[in-house]
Amino acid sequence: MQLYDTGMKHLLEPDTWKSLKVWLAEHDQRAFRAAQIRKWIFEGRAESFEAMSDLPKALRAELAGAFQVWTSKVVRHQKSADGTEKLLLELNQPPPNATQGVLYSAPEQIECVLLRDGERRSICISTQVGCAMGCVFCASGLDGVDRNLTSGEIVEQMLLLQRLLPAEERLSHIVVMGMGEPLANLDNLLPALNEASADDGLGISHRRITISTVGLPKQLDRLCELNTRYQLAVSLHAPNDELRNRIVPVNKNIGLADILATADRYFDVSGRRLTFEYVLLAGINDQPQHARELAALLSGRTALLNVIPYNPVAGLPYATPSAAAIRKFREILVEAGINVQFRERKGDAINAACGQLRRSTPGLSQIVEATTTPC
Ligand code: SAH
Repeated sequence: MQLYDTGMKHLLEPDTWKSLKVWLAEHDQRAFRAAQIRKWIFEGRAESFEAMSDLPKALRAELAGAFQVWTSKVVRHQKSADGTEKLLLELNQPPPNATQGVLYSAPEQIECVLLRDGERRSICISTQVGCAMGCVFCASGLDGVDRNLTSGEIVEQMLLLQRLLPAEERLSHIVVMGMGEPLANLDNLLPALNEASADDGLGISHRRITISTVGLPKQLDRLCELNTRYQLAVSLHAPNDELRNRIVPVNKNIGLADILATADRYFDVSGRRLTFEYVLLAGINDQPQHARELAALLSGRTALLNVIPYNPVAGLPYATPSAAAIRKFREILVEAGINVQFRERKGDAINAACGQLRRSTPGLSQIVEATTTPC
Protein backbone atom coordinates (compact mmCIF):
# COMPACT_ATOMS: atom_id res chain seq x y z
CA MET A 1 0.00 0.00 0.00
CA GLN A 2 1.27 3.45 -0.84
CA LEU A 3 0.44 6.41 1.31
CA TYR A 4 1.31 9.91 0.30
CA ASP A 5 4.87 9.84 -0.89
CA THR A 6 6.35 11.92 1.91
CA GLY A 7 8.76 9.36 3.32
CA MET A 8 7.01 9.64 6.69
CA LYS A 9 6.36 6.60 8.84
CA HIS A 10 2.93 5.82 10.31
CA LEU A 11 3.50 6.07 14.06
CA LEU A 12 0.67 3.63 14.89
CA GLU A 13 2.26 0.87 12.80
CA PRO A 14 3.63 -1.51 15.49
CA ASP A 15 7.05 -1.70 13.76
CA THR A 16 7.41 2.05 13.79
CA TRP A 17 8.07 2.09 17.53
CA LYS A 18 11.41 0.43 16.80
CA SER A 19 12.21 3.01 14.11
CA LEU A 20 11.26 5.72 16.56
CA LYS A 21 13.92 4.52 19.02
CA VAL A 22 16.54 4.58 16.26
CA TRP A 23 15.37 8.03 15.13
CA LEU A 24 15.58 9.37 18.69
CA ALA A 25 19.14 8.05 19.07
CA GLU A 26 20.11 9.63 15.75
CA HIS A 27 18.69 12.92 16.96
CA ASP A 28 20.60 12.81 20.25
CA GLN A 29 17.45 12.27 22.21
CA ARG A 30 17.22 10.19 25.38
CA ALA A 31 15.76 6.70 24.90
CA PHE A 32 12.94 7.21 27.43
CA ARG A 33 11.27 9.61 24.99
CA ALA A 34 9.92 6.60 23.03
CA ALA A 35 8.01 5.31 26.07
CA GLN A 36 6.87 8.84 26.81
CA ILE A 37 5.43 9.24 23.32
CA ARG A 38 3.78 5.82 23.48
CA LYS A 39 2.14 6.76 26.75
CA TRP A 40 0.79 9.94 25.22
CA ILE A 41 -0.71 7.97 22.34
CA PHE A 42 -2.26 5.02 24.20
CA GLU A 43 -3.05 6.52 27.62
CA GLY A 44 -2.93 10.27 27.20
CA ARG A 45 -5.05 10.16 24.03
CA ALA A 46 -2.91 12.83 22.43
CA GLU A 47 -4.13 13.94 19.01
CA SER A 48 -0.73 15.14 17.79
CA PHE A 49 2.92 15.50 18.76
CA GLU A 50 2.12 19.15 19.45
CA ALA A 51 -0.14 18.07 22.33
CA MET A 52 2.68 16.13 24.07
CA SER A 53 3.35 18.94 26.48
CA ASP A 54 6.31 17.44 28.36
CA LEU A 55 8.36 17.08 25.17
CA PRO A 56 10.60 19.98 24.11
CA LYS A 57 8.85 22.12 21.51
CA ALA A 58 11.59 21.70 18.90
CA LEU A 59 11.47 17.93 19.27
CA ARG A 60 7.68 17.92 18.81
CA ALA A 61 8.08 19.79 15.54
CA GLU A 62 10.82 17.46 14.31
CA LEU A 63 8.76 14.39 15.18
CA ALA A 64 5.80 15.81 13.29
CA GLY A 65 8.01 16.08 10.22
CA ALA A 66 9.16 12.45 10.41
CA PHE A 67 6.15 10.50 11.75
CA GLN A 68 2.49 10.63 10.79
CA VAL A 69 0.15 9.84 13.69
CA TRP A 70 -3.16 9.55 11.80
CA THR A 71 -3.62 8.19 8.30
CA SER A 72 -7.45 7.91 8.47
CA LYS A 73 -10.01 10.67 8.61
CA VAL A 74 -13.48 10.44 10.19
CA VAL A 75 -15.89 11.31 7.37
CA ARG A 76 -19.06 10.35 9.25
CA HIS A 77 -19.81 9.98 12.93
CA GLN A 78 -23.18 8.52 13.86
CA LYS A 79 -24.63 8.27 17.35
CA SER A 80 -27.52 6.11 18.40
CA ALA A 81 -29.77 6.66 21.44
CA ASP A 82 -28.52 3.38 22.98
CA GLY A 83 -24.99 4.81 23.17
CA THR A 84 -23.66 3.09 20.05
CA GLU A 85 -21.38 5.27 17.95
CA LYS A 86 -20.17 4.44 14.49
CA LEU A 87 -17.32 5.96 12.53
CA LEU A 88 -16.88 5.89 8.80
CA LEU A 89 -13.18 6.35 8.07
CA GLU A 90 -11.47 7.37 4.87
CA LEU A 91 -8.00 5.84 4.56
CA ASN A 92 -4.76 7.09 2.97
CA GLN A 93 -4.96 10.58 4.38
CA PRO A 94 -1.97 12.90 4.03
CA PRO A 95 -0.06 14.22 7.02
CA PRO A 96 -1.27 17.69 8.08
CA ASN A 97 1.56 19.48 6.26
CA ALA A 98 1.57 17.41 3.04
CA THR A 99 1.63 19.10 -0.32
CA GLN A 100 1.48 16.06 -2.59
CA GLY A 101 -1.74 14.58 -3.97
CA VAL A 102 -3.24 11.24 -3.03
CA LEU A 103 -2.36 8.30 -5.24
CA TYR A 104 -5.77 6.63 -5.14
CA SER A 105 -8.55 7.57 -7.52
CA ALA A 106 -11.44 6.27 -5.37
CA PRO A 107 -11.47 6.90 -1.63
CA GLU A 108 -11.18 3.77 0.49
CA GLN A 109 -13.60 3.64 3.39
CA ILE A 110 -14.02 1.37 6.38
CA GLU A 111 -16.30 1.32 9.42
CA CYS A 112 -15.79 0.78 13.13
CA VAL A 113 -18.14 0.94 16.10
CA LEU A 114 -18.18 1.76 19.83
CA LEU A 115 -20.81 -0.11 21.84
CA ARG A 116 -21.89 0.74 25.37
CA ASP A 117 -23.44 -2.00 27.48
CA GLY A 118 -23.55 -1.42 31.25
CA GLU A 119 -19.93 -1.04 32.31
CA ARG A 120 -18.65 -2.49 29.06
CA ARG A 121 -17.07 -0.30 26.45
CA SER A 122 -16.61 -2.56 23.44
CA ILE A 123 -15.33 -1.72 20.03
CA CYS A 124 -15.91 -3.51 16.76
CA ILE A 125 -13.12 -3.10 14.22
CA SER A 126 -12.54 -3.90 10.54
CA THR A 127 -9.62 -5.83 9.04
CA GLN A 128 -10.10 -5.34 5.29
CA VAL A 129 -11.51 -2.83 2.83
CA GLY A 130 -14.50 -4.91 1.71
CA CYS A 131 -14.54 -8.69 2.04
CA ALA A 132 -13.93 -11.64 -0.26
CA MET A 133 -16.04 -14.24 1.56
CA GLY A 134 -19.25 -13.38 -0.30
CA CYS A 135 -21.79 -14.15 2.47
CA VAL A 136 -24.96 -13.42 0.54
CA PHE A 137 -26.72 -11.36 3.22
CA CYS A 138 -23.78 -9.16 4.28
CA ALA A 139 -23.17 -5.60 3.11
CA SER A 140 -19.39 -5.68 3.58
CA GLY A 141 -18.61 -8.03 0.71
CA LEU A 142 -21.07 -6.79 -1.90
CA ASP A 143 -18.25 -5.27 -3.94
CA GLY A 144 -15.60 -7.84 -3.05
CA VAL A 145 -12.36 -7.01 -1.28
CA ASP A 146 -9.98 -4.17 -2.17
CA ARG A 147 -7.13 -4.87 0.21
CA ASN A 148 -6.01 -5.88 3.68
CA LEU A 149 -5.71 -3.14 6.27
CA THR A 150 -2.24 -2.57 7.68
CA SER A 151 -1.62 -3.24 11.37
CA GLY A 152 -1.38 0.51 11.87
CA GLU A 153 -4.78 1.09 10.28
CA ILE A 154 -6.28 -1.52 12.60
CA VAL A 155 -4.68 0.09 15.68
CA GLU A 156 -5.86 3.48 14.43
CA GLN A 157 -9.51 2.38 14.59
CA MET A 158 -9.02 1.35 18.22
CA LEU A 159 -7.53 4.71 19.12
CA LEU A 160 -10.09 6.80 17.25
CA LEU A 161 -12.90 4.95 19.06
CA GLN A 162 -11.07 5.24 22.41
CA ARG A 163 -11.00 8.99 21.95
CA LEU A 164 -14.83 9.05 21.84
CA LEU A 165 -14.89 8.05 25.52
CA PRO A 166 -14.73 10.53 28.38
CA ALA A 167 -11.29 10.59 30.10
CA GLU A 168 -12.44 8.47 33.04
CA GLU A 169 -13.69 5.61 30.84
CA ARG A 170 -11.54 2.89 29.26
CA LEU A 171 -12.11 0.46 26.43
CA SER A 172 -12.86 -2.94 27.93
CA HIS A 173 -13.51 -5.31 25.00
CA ILE A 174 -12.62 -5.66 21.34
CA VAL A 175 -14.54 -7.69 18.77
CA VAL A 176 -12.95 -8.17 15.38
CA MET A 177 -16.32 -8.32 13.65
CA GLY A 178 -16.28 -5.33 11.35
CA MET A 179 -15.65 -5.36 7.62
CA GLY A 180 -13.50 -8.16 6.25
CA GLU A 181 -12.42 -11.66 7.19
CA PRO A 182 -9.90 -11.35 10.04
CA LEU A 183 -8.25 -14.71 9.37
CA ALA A 184 -7.55 -13.65 5.79
CA ASN A 185 -5.40 -10.85 7.22
CA LEU A 186 -3.80 -12.55 10.22
CA ASP A 187 -0.30 -11.23 9.47
CA ASN A 188 -1.48 -7.68 10.04
CA LEU A 189 -4.17 -8.41 12.62
CA LEU A 190 -1.99 -10.20 15.18
CA PRO A 191 0.55 -7.36 15.62
CA ALA A 192 -2.38 -4.94 16.00
CA LEU A 193 -3.97 -7.12 18.69
CA ASN A 194 -0.61 -7.25 20.46
CA GLU A 195 -0.82 -3.48 20.76
CA ALA A 196 -4.35 -3.85 22.14
CA SER A 197 -3.29 -6.28 24.85
CA ALA A 198 0.15 -4.86 25.68
CA ASP A 199 0.56 -3.24 29.10
CA ASP A 200 2.04 -0.19 27.41
CA GLY A 201 -0.66 -0.38 24.74
CA LEU A 202 -4.39 -0.48 25.51
CA GLY A 203 -3.97 -3.14 28.21
CA ILE A 204 -7.03 -5.17 27.17
CA SER A 205 -6.74 -8.80 28.25
CA HIS A 206 -6.75 -11.51 25.55
CA ARG A 207 -9.91 -12.96 27.04
CA ARG A 208 -11.71 -9.72 26.21
CA ILE A 209 -10.69 -9.78 22.57
CA THR A 210 -12.82 -11.83 20.16
CA ILE A 211 -11.91 -12.74 16.60
CA SER A 212 -14.97 -13.55 14.49
CA THR A 213 -14.37 -15.74 11.44
CA VAL A 214 -16.24 -17.41 8.66
CA GLY A 215 -14.01 -20.39 9.53
CA LEU A 216 -10.79 -20.84 7.55
CA PRO A 217 -9.22 -24.09 8.84
CA LYS A 218 -5.62 -23.40 7.77
CA GLN A 219 -5.58 -20.05 9.51
CA LEU A 220 -7.35 -21.48 12.54
CA ASP A 221 -4.58 -24.04 12.73
CA ARG A 222 -2.09 -21.19 12.71
CA LEU A 223 -3.82 -19.64 15.70
CA CYS A 224 -3.51 -23.01 17.47
CA GLU A 225 0.21 -23.22 16.65
CA LEU A 226 0.79 -19.67 17.80
CA ASN A 227 -0.96 -20.52 21.04
CA THR A 228 -3.03 -17.36 20.98
CA ARG A 229 -5.46 -16.79 23.82
CA TYR A 230 -8.08 -14.76 22.00
CA GLN A 231 -11.73 -15.68 22.06
CA LEU A 232 -12.93 -17.21 18.84
CA ALA A 233 -16.35 -16.79 17.26
CA VAL A 234 -17.18 -18.91 14.23
CA SER A 235 -19.95 -17.69 11.92
CA LEU A 236 -21.97 -20.79 11.05
CA HIS A 237 -25.31 -19.47 9.73
CA ALA A 238 -26.40 -22.95 8.62
CA PRO A 239 -26.50 -26.42 10.20
CA ASN A 240 -25.56 -28.35 7.03
CA ASP A 241 -23.24 -27.90 4.08
CA GLU A 242 -25.97 -27.78 1.45
CA LEU A 243 -27.52 -24.68 3.03
CA ARG A 244 -24.21 -23.17 4.14
CA ASN A 245 -22.83 -23.40 0.59
CA ARG A 246 -25.71 -21.18 -0.51
CA ILE A 247 -25.45 -18.59 2.30
CA VAL A 248 -21.68 -18.61 2.82
CA PRO A 249 -20.24 -19.47 -0.63
CA VAL A 250 -16.67 -19.87 0.62
CA ASN A 251 -17.95 -22.97 2.44
CA LYS A 252 -17.96 -24.92 -0.84
CA ASN A 253 -14.20 -25.34 -0.57
CA ILE A 254 -14.18 -26.00 3.17
CA GLY A 255 -17.17 -27.73 4.72
CA LEU A 256 -18.60 -27.70 8.23
CA ALA A 257 -16.80 -30.87 9.41
CA ASP A 258 -13.38 -29.35 8.83
CA ILE A 259 -14.35 -26.05 10.45
CA LEU A 260 -15.78 -27.70 13.56
CA ALA A 261 -12.76 -29.98 13.90
CA THR A 262 -10.31 -27.05 13.80
CA ALA A 263 -12.50 -24.97 16.10
CA ASP A 264 -12.46 -27.87 18.58
CA ARG A 265 -8.69 -27.96 18.32
CA TYR A 266 -8.54 -24.26 19.12
CA PHE A 267 -10.70 -24.91 22.18
CA ASP A 268 -8.33 -27.69 23.31
CA VAL A 269 -5.25 -25.52 22.87
CA SER A 270 -6.55 -22.19 24.14
CA GLY A 271 -9.05 -23.38 26.73
CA ARG A 272 -11.36 -20.67 25.47
CA ARG A 273 -15.04 -21.50 25.22
CA LEU A 274 -16.05 -21.36 21.56
CA THR A 275 -18.76 -19.09 20.29
CA PHE A 276 -20.78 -19.89 17.19
CA GLU A 277 -22.72 -17.20 15.40
CA TYR A 278 -25.92 -17.75 13.50
CA VAL A 279 -27.62 -14.92 11.63
CA LEU A 280 -31.31 -15.70 11.42
CA LEU A 281 -32.72 -15.08 7.93
CA ALA A 282 -36.51 -15.34 7.49
CA GLY A 283 -37.58 -18.42 5.54
CA ILE A 284 -34.00 -19.49 4.83
CA ASN A 285 -32.27 -20.85 7.95
CA ASP A 286 -34.88 -20.13 10.64
CA GLN A 287 -37.12 -23.19 10.38
CA PRO A 288 -37.67 -25.67 13.24
CA GLN A 289 -35.75 -28.38 11.36
CA HIS A 290 -32.74 -26.02 11.14
CA ALA A 291 -32.86 -25.48 14.89
CA ARG A 292 -32.99 -29.24 15.49
CA GLU A 293 -30.09 -29.90 13.11
CA LEU A 294 -28.09 -27.09 14.71
CA ALA A 295 -28.71 -28.52 18.17
CA ALA A 296 -27.46 -31.93 17.00
CA LEU A 297 -24.37 -30.35 15.45
CA LEU A 298 -23.40 -28.43 18.59
CA SER A 299 -24.45 -30.78 21.35
CA GLY A 300 -21.55 -32.06 23.44
CA ARG A 301 -19.44 -28.96 22.76
CA THR A 302 -18.45 -26.39 25.37
CA ALA A 303 -19.81 -23.60 23.27
CA LEU A 304 -22.07 -20.60 23.24
CA LEU A 305 -24.43 -20.12 20.32
CA ASN A 306 -25.07 -16.50 19.49
CA VAL A 307 -28.19 -16.08 17.38
CA ILE A 308 -28.45 -12.71 15.65
CA PRO A 309 -31.71 -11.66 13.99
CA TYR A 310 -30.83 -10.34 10.54
CA ASN A 311 -30.17 -6.63 10.27
CA PRO A 312 -31.72 -5.80 6.87
CA VAL A 313 -29.40 -4.40 4.20
CA ALA A 314 -30.87 -2.08 1.56
CA GLY A 315 -31.14 -3.80 -1.79
CA LEU A 316 -30.77 -7.35 -0.47
CA PRO A 317 -33.74 -9.75 -0.55
CA TYR A 318 -33.43 -10.98 3.05
CA ALA A 319 -35.61 -10.24 6.05
CA THR A 320 -35.62 -10.56 9.83
CA PRO A 321 -37.77 -13.50 10.98
CA SER A 322 -41.01 -12.83 12.84
CA ALA A 323 -40.96 -12.74 16.65
CA ALA A 324 -42.87 -16.04 16.65
CA ALA A 325 -40.31 -17.75 14.39
CA ILE A 326 -37.46 -16.48 16.57
CA ARG A 327 -39.23 -17.72 19.73
CA LYS A 328 -39.78 -21.18 18.23
CA PHE A 329 -36.17 -21.39 17.09
CA ARG A 330 -34.97 -20.51 20.57
CA GLU A 331 -37.30 -23.00 22.29
CA ILE A 332 -35.95 -25.92 20.28
CA LEU A 333 -32.34 -25.03 21.08
CA VAL A 334 -33.00 -24.42 24.76
CA GLU A 335 -34.89 -27.71 25.07
CA ALA A 336 -31.94 -29.50 23.47
CA GLY A 337 -29.68 -28.07 26.19
CA ILE A 338 -27.72 -25.74 23.91
CA ASN A 339 -26.20 -22.71 25.60
CA VAL A 340 -27.84 -20.11 23.41
CA GLN A 341 -28.03 -16.35 23.54
CA PHE A 342 -30.13 -14.19 21.28
CA ARG A 343 -28.11 -11.10 20.69
CA GLU A 344 -29.82 -7.80 21.11
CA ARG A 345 -29.20 -5.65 18.09
CA LYS A 346 -27.37 -2.45 18.89
CA GLY A 347 -27.36 0.66 16.82
CA ASP A 348 -29.97 -0.46 14.29
CA ALA A 349 -30.88 3.11 13.48
CA ILE A 350 -27.32 3.87 12.45
CA ASN A 351 -26.81 0.91 10.14
CA ALA A 352 -24.54 -0.72 12.70
CA ALA A 353 -24.21 -3.95 10.72
CA CYS A 354 -20.86 -3.22 9.22
CA GLY A 355 -20.56 -2.39 5.59
CA GLN A 356 -23.88 -0.59 5.44
CA LEU A 357 -22.76 2.91 6.29
CA ARG A 358 -20.01 2.85 3.70
CA ARG A 359 -22.56 2.02 1.01
CA SER A 360 -24.89 4.83 1.99
CA THR A 361 -22.32 7.58 2.24
CA PRO A 362 -21.48 10.26 -0.26
CA GLY A 363 -18.27 11.05 1.65
CA LEU A 364 -19.25 14.21 3.50
CA SER A 365 -18.29 14.87 7.10
CA GLN A 366 -21.36 14.96 9.27
CA ILE A 367 -22.74 13.91 12.62
CA VAL A 368 -26.07 12.15 12.57
CA GLU A 369 -28.18 11.74 15.68
CA ALA A 370 -30.56 8.83 15.47
CA THR A 371 -32.82 6.80 17.67
CA THR A 372 -32.70 3.06 18.02
CA THR A 373 -35.51 0.58 18.00
CA PRO A 374 -34.17 -2.48 19.81
CA CYS A 375 -35.48 -5.74 18.41
N1 SAH B 1 -15.80 -12.30 8.41
C1 SAH B 1 -16.09 -12.42 9.81
C2 SAH B 1 -16.52 -11.11 10.43
C3 SAH B 1 -17.74 -10.61 9.78
S1 SAH B 1 -18.95 -9.65 10.57
C4 SAH B 1 -17.14 -13.47 10.04
O1 SAH B 1 -17.69 -13.99 9.06
O2 SAH B 1 -17.41 -13.82 11.18
C5 SAH B 1 -19.39 -10.42 12.04
C6 SAH B 1 -20.73 -11.15 12.04
O3 SAH B 1 -21.81 -10.32 11.59
C7 SAH B 1 -20.71 -12.37 11.13
O4 SAH B 1 -21.28 -13.44 11.82
C8 SAH B 1 -21.59 -11.91 9.99
O5 SAH B 1 -22.12 -12.99 9.29
C9 SAH B 1 -22.62 -11.07 10.70
N2 SAH B 1 -23.41 -10.18 9.83
C10 SAH B 1 -23.03 -9.65 8.65
N3 SAH B 1 -24.02 -8.91 8.12
C11 SAH B 1 -25.06 -8.98 8.98
C12 SAH B 1 -26.39 -8.45 8.96
N4 SAH B 1 -26.81 -7.67 7.99
N5 SAH B 1 -27.18 -8.73 10.02
C13 SAH B 1 -26.75 -9.49 11.05
N6 SAH B 1 -25.51 -10.03 11.11
C14 SAH B 1 -24.68 -9.79 10.07
